[in-house]
Amino acid sequence: MQHITILGSTGSIGVSTLDVIARHPERYRVFALTAQNRVEELADQCVRFHPQLAVVGTSEAASRLQQLLDGKGVATQVMHGEQALCEVASASACTTVMAAIVGGAGLAPSLAAARAGKRVLLANKEALVMSGSLFMDAVKTSGAVLMPIDSEHNAIFQCLPQDYSRVPEAHGISRILLTASGGPFLTRPLDTLDSVTCAEAVAHPKWVMGRKISVDSATMMNKGLEVIEAHYLFGVPADDIEVVIHPQSVVHSMVSYVDGSVLAELGNPDMRTPIAHALAYPERIASGVAPLDLMQIANLSFMAPDFARFPCLKLAYDALRAGGSAPALLNAANEVAVQAFLDERIGFRKIDALIAQVMDALPVCNVDTIESVFEQDRLARDLAEKLILQ
Ligand code: NAD
Ligand code: MG
Repeated sequence: MQHITILGSTGSIGVSTLDVIARHPERYRVFALTAQNRVEELADQCVRFHPQLAVVGTSEAASRLQQLLDGKGVATQVMHGEQALCEVASASACTTVMAAIVGGAGLAPSLAAARAGKRVLLANKEALVMSGSLFMDAVKTSGAVLMPIDSEHNAIFQCLPQDYSRVPEAHGISRILLTASGGPFLTRPLDTLDSVTCAEAVAHPKWVMGRKISVDSATMMNKGLEVIEAHYLFGVPADDIEVVIHPQSVVHSMVSYVDGSVLAELGNPDMRTPIAHALAYPERIASGVAPLDLMQIANLSFMAPDFARFPCLKLAYDALRAGGSAPALLNAANEVAVQAFLDERIGFRKIDALIAQVMDALPVCNVDTIESVFEQDRLARDLAEKLILQ
């Protein structure tokens, strides 16, 4: 029996995780659920899944959750704040953590789970982008099991040998082919991109996701973050990670071997597949995802990304090549820029411009402690905010 903490249970990944878990009550029990502020939804989840603990962002949200649970026959203990997130991610009664908070806010609890040697199902790519080798070292030292949830990385994991050692050449691996849908603006005339609305940017053609990752998909920063994520997860250098645009989102990524073989994982674009895979690995369980109907899909197409259309992808490659604090700076500037776009404080094309300004202004330094990562993150956020106000 796995006892699961879901960090970010009210989000898109959190809800899909509960959907898979509910199909297999004999295998999985919910230990803790967390949400920042959608308290009503969290209360419904507590009534349905009876976690021992629930964590929200503030004491006001905690009181509200407690009120909603009173008289419902639920023994869930309510907590709040970042320290509580780290506690439920590392508690001895918890075996498995779904890390599905969005953004840098997920780093501390995801890292706490890794340090505590949990089975960590990592959706929160920003945490790995920020802390890279520090995170991977924590996994190694504690003996945690790290399972990728991002569909591309989960696909790559499935296409790698079972005994993969994070040294690609030792296994005859030549390249990783990371597929990308291209998002909602793949073919939109370039000179109209500056006037796109939030509603247009978050309307992803293939995947239903949270707002931040949806905007990241529209700029292709999501793919850039995933290139960095793939580098840290699988030990593959930037030059050997190739982004391939594949609008149907059926091939979730591929691994290319020196003998010319290319292994791919295919499926319908539904996150319950990688979630079920990561929960049950090395076994397989039903996820609720409809079987793939290739006759109906009929055509799969592939093309190279255009860096002029998607400058964020280039900025991410540059950050990975620069190393040190650069990926953390990139991620922080992007989070601020995307939030400002969602708040209608800046236009769509200002997102990449702002990130480039922050990357140009701040020197890259070594980050060998988690405190230094947070310090660089803070510097980049402060500068990005300042540049927005100018
Ligand atoms: P979402 O916005 O739908 O949900 C985010 C969750 O995090 C919510 O439960 C929210 O309450 C919680 N949260 C937000 N801010 C918080 C804070 N400051 N402190 C604590 N909790 C906070 O996001 P999502 O689409 O589910 O994405 C979650 C993560 O998974 C992201 O890192 C995203 O990149 C990654 N991911 C998502 C998908 C997808 O299909 N949605 C696919 C691949 C990877
Ligand atoms: Mg992805």
